Amino acid sequence: MTDVLARQFTNENAAIAHVEASRWPDDVTCPLCGSLSVHRMGGQTQAGYFLCNDCRDKFTCRTGTVMERSHIPIHKWLLAIHLLSASKKGMSAHQLHRMLGVTYKSAWFLAHRIREAMKDDKPTPLGGEGKSVQADETYYGNTSKRAKGYKKGHRHKEQIVALIEPKGKARVVHVKTATAVKVREILVINAHRSSELHTDESPLYTKVGREFAAHKTVEHGTHGAEGFYVGKDGQTTNAVENFFGIFKRGMVGTYHKCEAQHLQRYLTEFEFRFNHRAGLGVNDKMRAETLLKAIEGKRLTYRRPDKTQEQEATR
Ligand SMILES: [Zn+2]
Repeated sequence: MTDVLARQFTNENAAIAHVEASRWPDDVTCPLCGSLSVHRMGGQTQAGYFLCNDCRDKFTCRTGTVMERSHIPIHKWLLAIHLLSASKKGMSAHQLHRMLGVTYKSAWFLAHRIREAMKDDKPTPLGGEGKSVQADETYYGNTSKRAKGYKKGHRHKEQIVALIEPKGKARVVHVKTATAVKVREILVINAHRSSELHTDESPLYTKVGREFAAHKTVEHGTHGAEGFYVGKDGQTTNAVENFFGIFKRGMVGTYHKCEAQHLQRYLTEFEFRFNHRAGLGVNDKMRAETLLKAIEGKRLTYRRPDKTQEQEATR
């Protein structure tokens, strides 16, 4: 694990050099026009700036990344990226606010921008011939004992559908209500139909199951009947159950609650760590490096409907 006292986390020039080396391992490319004809600007006030000889625009290592238009020093961004990559259950904006010495609001937006970078923007379907994909759904929200009666019950919860290729990657999607139509759409987009589909006996999967190479179900047991975790052919949804377990413990322990509109961002965060987990040979340093490379090209997809809050975050 990289020491949190490493120079790129404490010294701004070291941080800029670190991001530049990550972003441009060979030649510096103008992020605005793609030209290789660029030069580093001199002088104290121009530190970190490049000038493009083709489009004549100035840019820095922040340009075209989730860090653009943020006034938070880059070494704090790097530390936040490191902490969010390495913490199994995530890190709350309150904790980031204290650890980074930035306002709570800045920490909140910084964390959400990092989650934006965690988004897999070139997702490939899971599974394939000779492989299996597990699918399951769960409810999220209003599980607090303090929630009053009228807010309780599945009707007032959000749903999460997760697909996992055992010993492989996960794809996790927030849906308002998991219907057979919605679940089918998620499955056919995110999993190869040449895979074997493993689910519980929920009728959500009955019809779409026929589109897959095979569909095996495991009896989880309902109405007090004894259930099983592994079917007679070895089919199971244990990997998905485990993912939901990590996610829910993280949400309870770290984030406490999250509004429906942000649920997908937190799912993306847990999915990112899962897909770059130690079990797949990825250590904390590699995970943070992967995330740092993913900060590019994401900023444009990040739009907050509330402009005033957005401006708040860049202060
Ligand atoms: Zn240019």
